[in-house]
Amino acid sequence: MKNYKHVYINGQWIEPSGRDHADVINATTEDVIGRVPLGDAGDADRAVRAARAAFDGWSQTSPLQRAEWIAKIAGGLEARAAEAAQLISAEVGTPIAWSQYAQAGAPVAHFAVAAQLLGEFAFTEHVGHSEVLREPVGVVACITPWNYPLTLIAAKVAPALAAGCTVVLKPSEVAPLTAYLLAEVIHEAGLPPGVFNMVPGVGQVVGEALASHPQVDMISFTGSTAAGRRVGELGARTIKRVALELGGKSAAIILDDADFASAVRGAIAACYLNNGQTCFAHTRLLVPRGRMAEARAIAAQAVGGMKVGNPLDEQNTIGPVISALQRARVRDYIRQGIEEGAELVTGGPDAPAGLTHGFFVRPTVFAGVTPDMTIAREEIFGPVLVMLAYEDEDDAVRIANDSIYGLSGAVWSSDAERAKRVARRLRTGRVDINGAPFNLLAPFGGYKQSGNGREFGKYGLEEYLEYKAVQMPAE
Ligand code: NAD
Repeated sequence: MKNYKHVYINGQWIEPSGRDHADVINATTEDVIGRVPLGDAGDADRAVRAARAAFDGWSQTSPLQRAEWIAKIAGGLEARAAEAAQLISAEVGTPIAWSQYAQAGAPVAHFAVAAQLLGEFAFTEHVGHSEVLREPVGVVACITPWNYPLTLIAAKVAPALAAGCTVVLKPSEVAPLTAYLLAEVIHEAGLPPGVFNMVPGVGQVVGEALASHPQVDMISFTGSTAAGRRVGELGARTIKRVALELGGKSAAIILDDADFASAVRGAIAACYLNNGQTCFAHTRLLVPRGRMAEARAIAAQAVGGMKVGNPLDEQNTIGPVISALQRARVRDYIRQGIEEGAELVTGGPDAPAGLTHGFFVRPTVFAGVTPDMTIAREEIFGPVLVMLAYEDEDDAVRIANDSIYGLSGAVWSSDAERAKRVARRLRTGRVDINGAPFNLLAPFGGYKQSGNGREFGKYGLEEYLEYKAVQMPAE
């Protein structure tokens, strides 16, 4: 049991003024496995002041000095990667193999990439008689969700520190344990006090205090569209830069010339990652009407055969969702799908056989889904795939784009040029062709209500930089 009592401010572990705490629950056993304090507005204020005081010094360090510190953090996280993967599989329910890769490996990569970029990035360029400087935005508040708790923290904190910004992190109160692990690693790396601060707390208290704080220059938020909207409103009052990474309802389009067996299986893999709790999951599967029966049969077999159970057992590909609340939400969506007339291909709202304990949901597939149904429109954030029929390529693009979201998507075709043509018509920040792997260096972020701004690689670094133009007189 991890029993944390402190928050991390100005290079020290201090007692928070907030008196409440949050219990961290193992999603499989429902046991309490940790406890963290919940900060209050006073803690947020202390952290922001520490970050403000540290900004002048940190922003004046050279990129290579910062690279050394950031590389040390990458090394420290790497040394504790196995521990991070176990913690997150317990908190979130992520199957262990995916946890090792995407929950514990990716954060190391984000810090390593940030350190490497500092050796290459042009912080100065010349335009006519102007010197154009890239300078850090200032104090950045990072607010992060529970589904990829450490990865999404790293995707913000690494480039923010690399840019020369100082940081206050408010991790998710639901999966906060690896935020402590990161703070310990950063403390050991010996960053100057105040450069990185961490205050757990609930969104309405610490999150809103940070989003409203006049001395915070930028908020980088990942989470639900509803909370992002609130953060955007609060940030607007002091004209903060606000970067939002929000929800999604991404579509995988299987074109009629695709290899169906691999396309349907590939699309399914991209839907059920992390038990469906992935913002860029391909949760809508668009299939030519004439081939729906074939696609449905493949999906029924692939998803019906998924092994559900303890995420620490490598044989299981689906673990529990994070909480009783999330389980109830996902099951409600499944019931609503049935009520609205969708055809249940496999799964359903009951507990999976033999799993009456833990927050398990049966991996579920719906066919006969129409674009107006709730399950086709709203982000479910659980192991649920909806299959929609389309008439032709234009219709597929129209259905895919008929969403308030625009985070990701996929096109499957045996003709790469055709797939690219369709990809260009999708109003989303990413499109994967024929199951291409994830790229941590390419920009990640959303169109429409999936957010604004981009993370990862040099695009992520640029988010934390201002432009300054310095004009030189003629010689
Ligand atoms: P959430 O919006 O409930 O919480 C996210 C964070 O915001 C938490 O730290 C929470 O405490 C904080 N928060 C909540 N209300 C707030 C408020 N009023 N002011 C300030 N902060 C507030 O989201 P969640 O349930 O933790 O995560 C799931 C959501 O995150 C899904 O919608 C998912 O799609 C989205 N997500 C998006 C991305 C992306 O990169 N686009 C990545 C992962 C998750």
